[in-house]
Amino acid sequence: MVINNSIYLDNHATTAVDPTVAEAMWPYLTEHFGNPASSAHAYGWVAKEAVELAREQVAELIGATSKEIVFTSGATESTNLAIIGTARANAFRGKHLVTLATEHKATLDACEALGPEGFETTVLPVLPSGQIDMAQFKDSLREDTILVSVLMANNEIGTVLPVAEIGAVCRERGIVFHTDVAQATGKLPIDVGAMSVDLMSITAHKMHGPKGVGALYVRRGRPRLKVNALIHGGGQERGLRSGTLSPHQLVGLGKSCVLAKLALQNGEVESMRTKRDRLWRILSEGIEGIVLNAGMENRLANNLNVSIPAVDSKALLIATRQVAVSSGSACASSNLTPSHVLQAIGAAQEEMHTAVRFGVGRFNTDEEIEQAGALFVEKVAEVREMSAAFGL
Ligand SMILES: *Cc1c(COP(=O)(O)O)cnc(C)c1O
Repeated sequence: MVINNSIYLDNHATTAVDPTVAEAMWPYLTEHFGNPASSAHAYGWVAKEAVELAREQVAELIGATSKEIVFTSGATESTNLAIIGTARANAFRGKHLVTLATEHKATLDACEALGPEGFETTVLPVLPSGQIDMAQFKDSLREDTILVSVLMANNEIGTVLPVAEIGAVCRERGIVFHTDVAQATGKLPIDVGAMSVDLMSITAHKMHGPKGVGALYVRRGRPRLKVNALIHGGGQERGLRSGTLSPHQLVGLGKSCVLAKLALQNGEVESMRTKRDRLWRILSEGIEGIVLNAGMENRLANNLNVSIPAVDSKALLIATRQVAVSSGSACASSNLTPSHVLQAIGAAQEEMHTAVRFGVGRFNTDEEIEQAGALFVEKVAEVREMSAAFGL
């Protein structure tokens, strides 16, 4: 696999591990290999100190306290624990859940998996912009609604939802509120208090940390939140997630949180936005008929999701393979069913089949943006010409 000279613009699928993150992890893969639960010797103490620092770093990013952080294997697990764990622990109060059609599959499938246990999920449609219809949302809440789950920022179309507004509605009605911020960390300010969040899913690998590690924020205090564990065993993480903690992974998560917080202050977000806007200018000026799915308003600073009509997107992605991007969503791109997110915003059939997702990251340079944009403009013209020549 030749990856020299390639340009990575698939930062919604995953991000490169920041070298300073990798460096911080290394000692915990080598000399500091202890089990943080070993309280009888220094190997354990050193590991424990590292994971507790990571816990504080995660808490610091989202305005929480370290006691409210439960370590997991990533956002998928956090979301499963949040949704299934809350549903089971609160079934005595009601069995109705509310979410959106544009949610990540982790949310949609966790809700669906609760069906056989008698839970019912309302999956709300969204506006063509990808936005929630607040009036419709409020109407969907019932006496027996126990949980609302929405993304803070969409992983395909980048739509940023009014999470604080949604949280306030839930809080007022005593409904547990879960949000997945996997795509928002390091791009948007996050504060669990201001957003009235009860549960929040986080993952390291979308913010230049390692894959396979994340966290669930579980609010403490009154009214007391009830969540049932899904993984049973040694009782780690206050019984909410058993299993030996992974210090090197958690050190990576913690460090990536420190850098994500910094990104909001040091101009990194604005730099990504400038690059994203530059890319959109090159594409929109050079490609006739290109469509920006879900519009530019309330969009994550680093996201573009475009449809390029009258182009076979597979032929195009092969022709532009030096640039790593995704067609639709990474999870969905291995099968041929169009993205459920593009379906939900009412994209036309052709637009769904010709969608390309770009995600700018910390390490992209201006030259890469220029090159990637120019390559797409050139190859779209070639593929269109070829199609015309063959009467396709
Ligand atoms: C990537 C992603 C996930 C899945 O996270 P993992 O850590 O890979 O399990 C969940 N939600 C969103 C919004 C994502 O972008």
